[in-house]
Amino acid sequence: SVEIRLEEVTKRYGNRAEPAVDAVSMTIPAGELVVFVGPSGCGKTTTMKMINRLIEPTSGRILIGGRDASSLNPDELRRSIGYAIQQVGLFPHLTVAENIGVVPGLLGWDKARIRSRTEEMLDLVGLESGEFFGRYPRQLSGGQQQRVGVARALAADPPVLLMDEPFGAVDPITRGNLQDELMRLQAELGKTIVFVTHDFDEAVKLGDRIAVLGNQSKILQYDTPEAILAN
Ligand code: ADP
Ligand code: ADP
Repeated sequence: SVEIRLEEVTKRYGNRAEPAVDAVSMTIPAGELVVFVGPSGCGKTTTMKMINRLIEPTSGRILIGGRDASSLNPDELRRSIGYAIQQVGLFPHLTVAENIGVVPGLLGWDKARIRSRTEEMLDLVGLESGEFFGRYPRQLSGGQQQRVGVARALAADPPVLLMDEPFGAVDPITRGNLQDELMRLQAELGKTIVFVTHDFDEAVKLGDRIAVLGNQSKILQYDTPEAILAN
């Protein structure tokens, strides 16, 4: 399992007076599922993107398994981190299966292995492989697209999962199943998971710990759900 550490991480967009994320330090312990809750605009997505190196911190340092994230090359990042977001961003000209297979393909997996892994991932997110394998994203509902997004994030079996409101459009029953799958991945495979949600009930259900964030991602509370509910 892989620990994530943020050390005095700050992100300032352009020359805005207020940083989007201001000197945040925290440790996400290896193999734990940590949920970020906080108001819209408090910097949750910015923090996730910095962990995933889609944007660089203005200052501070992020360590993934003890290594400075800025030293990881693209293949190391692809192997280490799976990322699923609310606005899924599937490639429109690729089928569901091709979308799920992008990262394994870049990592050089052979075709048979990619195919069986894709079928396994579709099964995990509750999409019948025979029905969905060859479809295009425009032929899916919003919730189905999000489920493909989760399958894509898990495909290369990364030790770290970053999930930014990944189930917003998913129907309640499937959402419950996906929550259970995530908890299983954490408990059985020791994945380190950072999960962003606006939904406090979801945070309480999923989190080993919950980080309650205020403006500029200031950490207001960081504790177990039980301890936070007791406050
Ligand atoms: P949420 O509140 O659900 O996290 P937002 O609507 O704040 O999402 O942001 C959606 C996307 O738009 C994010 O990827 C974010 O980086 C980008 N974004 C948000 N605010 C701005 C802005 N002022 N300028 C440019 N991009 C922005
Ligand atoms: P959250 O995910 O908690 O809703 P974000 O990380 O999306 O918050 O945004 C944090 C702040 O940074 C907001 O004030 C947002 O408007 C701003 N922001 C986000 N992305 C950009 C961007 N690309 N350019 C400028 N400002 C941005």
